Formats: sequence, structure tokens, C-alpha cells
Amino acid sequence: MTNKTVNTFTLDELEKLFINIPRKKLLFGPTPFHKLENISKDYEVDIFMKREEVGGPSNFGGNKIRKLEFIMGQAIEDKTDYIITYGAYQSNSAMQIATACNICGIKPILFLGDTKAQRIIEEPTGNLFLSRMLDAEIINVDKPEPVDSLDLNPLWNKVINECHKKKEELESKGYKVLFLPVGSTHEYGFVSDVLMFKELLEQSEKEGVELDYIFHTNGSGGTLPGMIAAKLMTGLNIKLRSINVRTWKEGSLITKKICLERVKYIFDRLIVPCPSDEEIYAEMNIDENYMHPGYGIPNPAAEDVIRELACKEGLFVDYTYSGKGFSGLKDYIQKGLVPKNSKVVFIHTGGVVALFSDPAMVKNLYK
Ligand SMILES: *Cc1c(COP(=O)(O)O)cnc(C)c1O
Repeated sequence: MTNKTVNTFTLDELEKLFINIPRKKLLFGPTPFHKLENISKDYEVDIFMKREEVGGPSNFGGNKIRKLEFIMGQAIEDKTDYIITYGAYQSNSAMQIATACNICGIKPILFLGDTKAQRIIEEPTGNLFLSRMLDAEIINVDKPEPVDSLDLNPLWNKVINECHKKKEELESKGYKVLFLPVGSTHEYGFVSDVLMFKELLEQSEKEGVELDYIFHTNGSGGTLPGMIAAKLMTGLNIKLRSINVRTWKEGSLITKKICLERVKYIFDRLIVPCPSDEEIYAEMNIDENYMHPGYGIPNPAAEDVIRELACKEGLFVDYTYSGKGFSGLKDYIQKGLVPKNSKVVFIHTGGVVALFSDPAMVKNLYK
């Protein structure tokens, strides 16, 4: 890798870029990093897992908490009274926002919806149950569609409008309100995954492992920009592979162009000269072959790896995100796209609560 347009930073130097950025500690500190011993033997590839889902503050964490450290840091500095967001009833993000809000003394308002609305409202399960228990104010979305069709969907645009109406109404009463897009992908949070990258590189160095690949599950594109920025800032020779659970085609809510803007934003925020668009685009290896039959619906390959991780490693992953992401990694290994004896880290981004949200969705996961 030559022709770098930026000077590279050591991992320690990366941390120093953050000293002036407001942050509220919500994670327990470096999330665990460990080898999957049995699966590594079977696949003949060294696979490590970065455990973002057990970083706290509860035992139902996920990758939004790290972003929320910086979102909340700024929200506290701005003396925010309310945070408004939206998503599906089983939104991991909404539940983690409600969690962070409770810790910070900010009131969460969640606009939630889904197609199976009625039964779920009467007997809340999974994340909806947790968000109710967290005492978040929940506003049921009128005649909603699945979040999958959130791309260019006028119904979700209507929801976003309602969020903004609610925001204006509270602001007219003198309250300070912050609106967070679906998936907690607010710009305040983008820098956080630079530190996740730093953590996992430090942890792998400590184990004497030189990583070849980072695999992760890509959704609303909040996690990838930080890793791309960190990779370019450090100049490390590690390949990023993003397994999508939602399409990024042109015209969607999220596209490569939007990811580019987010990476540039991070360079600006950390006051580091930005590399060229080409260098940034070169790090976007987005694979959409593993998301069928649709967002939030399991497929047989994902079900296989969910059972495999449970039976060989005692580890739980969900069918919306990490199950599909890991099925992508397994397929790359089987096809030789990740060569034998490579060193790979898979980022467990959370979502385990989905296993307890709808019995019909998990019926193939046990005998
Ligand atoms: C949100 C989420 C993702 C995707 O992360 P993005 O930053 O939205 O791309 C992956 N896994 C889980 C469990 C999530 O909740």
C-alpha cells in the first residue's frame, strides 16, 4: 500500500485525537477479544471475535452503545432534555438509546412500528419489552411497514416528519431536543469506531496475532466509516469485509456515497487531513449476497452458523445481523476468498435479544 496522502498514526496517537471530544463513559472498557478455538480448527482459519455485544452497560448491549458514548457526551454538554428516535418494535438501537438516556437523565421518545403490530403491543417481547421496562415513551407508528422498506418509503418519511413535529412541539415549550436517525447513526457517534478498531488491533498485537481481515455485519452504516478512517489513519494492511443485511444500492437510505461523507466527517472531526475519495472507496468491500430473503428474516445458511456457534463455542448470535454476517465469513472461507491459515476477526455487534422476540422466527434453531 503506497501513495498514501495522509501521514499515518500509531494506535496510541489515535487515542490522543479524541481529547477534546465530549464523551460519556457507558462501556466497561475494552470489549473482549478471543479466539474461537473449535471453529478455527474446523475451518483451518484462525477466527477471533470482538465482543461488542457484552460491553455493557446491561447484559443486552450492542454496537450502538459505543456510538452513544459520544452522542450522549455531546447531548449532556448541550443540556439535552429529550432524545427522539424511530425504528422497528424490535430495534436494538432504540433499546440501547433508552438505556443510555436513563443513565444520563435524558428522556427517550421512541417512534416504533412493524407489521405484526397488534400482538406485539399487547404482549411485548424482546427489545420492545426491554424498552417498555426502561420506561421509554413509546409512540406506536400508524399502519407501519417493515423497516426493510424504509428506503424511500413514504410511510417512514411520515414517521420522520412526526419525530420532527414532536421535536418542534417540545422545543416550543423550551426543552432541548436531539433527534437520532434509525440505527443511532448520528454524526456525533461516527468517531467511536475508530477506537473500536484501535482496541481490537491492540488486543490482537497482545496475542501476537497479525490480523488479515475484519469481518462485520453492515446495516445503517454507522460502524464501517470509523473502521475505514482508522485503517487509513494507521496505514495498517488489514482488509475490511462488510456483509450487508440491507441494500446500499443507489437511491437507498444508505449508499457508498453517504459512507464516503461519513468517513470525511470523521477526518474533519479529528482534525486530520483527509485522503482522496478513491482511497476511501477502495476500503468499501460491501457484499449483499447474504441478506436474503430480507431484512430481519432468517435464511438457512444463517441458521446453520447460529447453531454451529452455539454448539461449538457456546456463543449466541441473532438471525438479523451476526448470523448472516458470520454466514458470509464462512462462505468466503469455503470458496477460498479467505485463504487457509488467515487470521480473521469477526465483530459481534449484538442483537441476541432477537432470539427471544418471536418464537416463529427461531423454530429452526433447535431440535
Ligand atoms: C445496528 C446493528 C448492526 C449494524 O451496524 P450499523 O452501524 O448500523 O451498520 C449490526 N448488528 C447489530 C446487532 C445491530 O444492532
